[in-house]
Amino acid sequence: MDPATGDPLCTVSECGPDQVEQAVRAARRAFDHGPWPRTPAVRRAGVLFALAERLEAWADHLARVETLNQGKPLRESRADLEEVVACLRYYAGMAPRRLARTAPRPGAPLASVLREPVGVCALITAWNYPLLLAVWKLAPALAAGNTCVLKPSELTPLTSLLLAEALQDLDLPPGVVNVVIGDGPGAGRALAASPRVDKVSFTGGAAAGRQVALAALGNLKRVALELGGKSPVVVFSDQDLETAVDLALYAVYCNAGQVCSAGSRFIVQADLHDAFVRRLAERARRIVVGPGLDPATEMGPLVGARQRSRVLDAVRAGVREGARLETGGAPLGGGRLARGFYLEPTLFSNCRPAMRVVQEEIFGPVAVVQKFTTEEEALDLANGTPYGLAGAVFSRDLARGVRVARALRAGVAWVNGYHTTGPELPWGGCKQSGWGRELGTFGLDACTEIKQLNLTLEPAPIRWFKP
Ligand code: NAD
Repeated sequence: MDPATGDPLCTVSECGPDQVEQAVRAARRAFDHGPWPRTPAVRRAGVLFALAERLEAWADHLARVETLNQGKPLRESRADLEEVVACLRYYAGMAPRRLARTAPRPGAPLASVLREPVGVCALITAWNYPLLLAVWKLAPALAAGNTCVLKPSELTPLTSLLLAEALQDLDLPPGVVNVVIGDGPGAGRALAASPRVDKVSFTGGAAAGRQVALAALGNLKRVALELGGKSPVVVFSDQDLETAVDLALYAVYCNAGQVCSAGSRFIVQADLHDAFVRRLAERARRIVVGPGLDPATEMGPLVGARQRSRVLDAVRAGVREGARLETGGAPLGGGRLARGFYLEPTLFSNCRPAMRVVQEEIFGPVAVVQKFTTEEEALDLANGTPYGLAGAVFSRDLARGVRVARALRAGVAWVNGYHTTGPELPWGGCKQSGWGRELGTFGLDACTEIKQLNLTLEPAPIRWFKP
């Protein structure tokens, strides 16, 4: 469906349990008996380089399809495509070096530490960055020699299907990459529970993440969870107002707030607070909301009706609990926006720590502001939710910026910036934002098992027991 109009884009067949099982068996066969895990890492890297080239050549088309299916402005889809290509090249270049390591010990036996692929990996992704999340998981898994079953979100399957098409005539043995289409309770749960799957890597909400972890217990498969957040941005009053507000807009309203790491909680020092709220509301009202394919659009629609009603429900809870609605809070309709799932950029001030809008991930264009006086108070507020994915500090005093960023309980922290990352940097959260890290060397390591291999060069009886 096109979230800008609510019109269907095409029909995609859903995989039933038999097809999910078929895909898992194909990946199992490819892992146990196929050449892929035993292919030299540099040759596997060649496939990833070739895929990167193909996707780069196809980037305009893929970006348009992503925008059509997901709703985000074209400039954001194009930026995603750059990251997709960079991620493939990064793992193609890095894996061959990292996978081959030996640790010789003095004397015999000669010991090596081998990194071997984990096996069959089920890769389950969310709808907010469909192609990017798929590649974040696929690139390291393939580079390490695993075989995969990818299940994109049922809401945004199109670019994952195009990815499968791009892989089709590359030098990839059958069964190494399989894509299944289906929803969470169906295909997702079957993958997480399958005894033939060795690892499940999941990106999505905390509720589904818990179910995945439970389902994975059956065969104690490896579990990686990239879950949600309620990321704080601590704004000190020494930061220039325009800079702080400009960065804040980017932190929270990018992809209409449908970003796991969105900086959606502004914790602002008392002497800057009122001016910050006023200016942020003014700028939020000026954001151009429209269809993602329109080059003038700065913020697109939400992904669908259900997501918009969830966000509106959170907005109503905020009003009920006494937060002050500074701007937004209503669907945008009329004219060309009449049929899409648009929502005004929304800002609440006067927020208390216990409020739902402060504690729960909203996953829409909704920001909340809290006020602080001392650094200690700012940190208590910042760390006062169950999440720990990301966070930021805006201050001209870099020593303070780094000190506070280090005290944030989060997997990713920025000082005077937001959203910048890359395939070489680890991604993931602490507390209830997930288990483990993706990307960087950490992401590759997470796709491997470590084996200690001992080789005795000149075997002879050791006479531990009397002959
Ligand atoms: P979701 O949890 O509803 O679904 C995510 C994926 O899991 C989908 O493919 C879905 O079909 C599948 N799924 C749902 N229930 C399942 C189950 N019981 N077993 C197996 N699979 C199941 O999340 P969503 O609405 O697609 O995405 C939004 C959430 O994803 C937000 O919480 C967001 O913060 C999070 N997210 C996190 C990151 C990150 O890197 N940490 C990145 C993007 C999105």
